[in-house]
Amino acid sequence: MVSLEPSIGIVRIIPLYTGEFIDVKLAEWSSWLDEKLKNSNIPEFEEETIYMLIPVLVKRFPTDESILEMVDWENKQALFEKYTFERKQAEEKEIEEIKIYNQRLNEFNNSRLKCPKCENKNVRFLDRSPDRKSYFICKSCGRSFRLEDIESMK
Ligand SMILES: [Zn+2]
Repeated sequence: MVSLEPSIGIVRIIPLYTGEFIDVKLAEWSSWLDEKLKNSNIPEFEEETIYMLIPVLVKRFPTDESILEMVDWENKQALFEKYTFERKQAEEKEIEEIKIYNQRLNEFNNSRLKCPKCENKNVRFLDRSPDRKSYFICKSCGRSFRLEDIESMK
């Protein structure tokens, strides 16, 4: 199996019998094939794979253009959109989690909180919303503490 990774121009060779993969820059494809054909610079772990694959690759994909020709662009686009969508969803989920976390932590603000380490009440709230988790810092011992620390004190 040969796949072109979306947008970065890498040809990934995945021999089905080993499952390991070899990445080659598309722009360097021809020279890479050349080099492998001449049997130079082959790391030992690639040797067997390369030995079996190179003749097939040279025959089917002698140039980088021939690689581009076999790419299923519609499928690539769909895959790219799927990745983008999933990444966006993961980001939104993380932002939502941070928001909930910060709301919960905020409830402890101005609540005469004690530092879990030194029990001093001289603590300061550091608001990091919306994109990072907020926390408290103890002005006495300098340690920071989070929701987990407060909850484990109860
Ligand atoms: Zn402290």
